[in-house]
Amino acid sequence: MQFIDPHIHIASRTTDDLATMAKMGCLVVGEPAFWMGYDRSGPDSFRDYFRQLTEWEPRRCANHGIRHYAWMGINAKEAEDVAFAREVIALLPEFLKRPSVLGIGEIGLHKCTRNEVTTLGALIDLALSSGEQMLFHTPHLEDKYKGTRMILDMLRDDPRVDPTRVCIDHCEEHTIRLALEEGYWAGITLYPTTKATPERAADMVEIYGPDRVLVNSSADWGPSNPLAVAELIFAMRRRGHDESVIRQLVYDNPLKFMSQSRNFQFAPPT
Ligand SMILES: [Zn+2]
Repeated sequence: MQFIDPHIHIASRTTDDLATMAKMGCLVVGEPAFWMGYDRSGPDSFRDYFRQLTEWEPRRCANHGIRHYAWMGINAKEAEDVAFAREVIALLPEFLKRPSVLGIGEIGLHKCTRNEVTTLGALIDLALSSGEQMLFHTPHLEDKYKGTRMILDMLRDDPRVDPTRVCIDHCEEHTIRLALEEGYWAGITLYPTTKATPERAADMVEIYGPDRVLVNSSADWGPSNPLAVAELIFAMRRRGHDESVIRQLVYDNPLKFMSQSRNFQFAPPT
């Protein structure tokens, strides 16, 4: 089955991964800007990274017949220094104009500090004032519930927010309902250990249904699996789910979500 992985860090993956993803049916990927495993020493490091995501990674993917789209942002892990974050945010408008950029992401909270909230507020304001879609990272483990609530509170306070153009990502059993009930897209990240396994994701789909749910690998430089979306396809089939439901999850839904961005131009193969 053909699929889209709406959240994967291609910059951390090998060409072998790309070749295997293509053979398994991956047609499109979305790559949000994130923390590369070390703090950058200055805004120019971000500028180079944003160029990598908009110039080099699309070419690497194209070699395997995969369309690459990117999201521009500063991750919560580097948002604590508000003055530094502002310098990075000042770079974003130039990159948001690039033809393969879908919006602002992944942005969000990590330790849910006041400074993180200040930086996040500036990023949300930039997105809303320039009509960009948003992709939110929610915190890990013990901080997830609190951080998700804080993000949803910030969004609820701004009347400009259109929930249908926002994805709350890395949802788990205790947070997915919060995102869906307020009209957002809910991302489920398929990880071998933390976040959700394919089996747990299938459980959540059985409880909440497939509407406005996005599944992704978020594969990066840590323990993760660039074929996780394909594994969900097999997990859902083992449980006897209809092919149309599986296709909705792994193809129709991400297509619908991404299509709301003015830069998303993808003609599905006929
Ligand atoms: Zn990510």
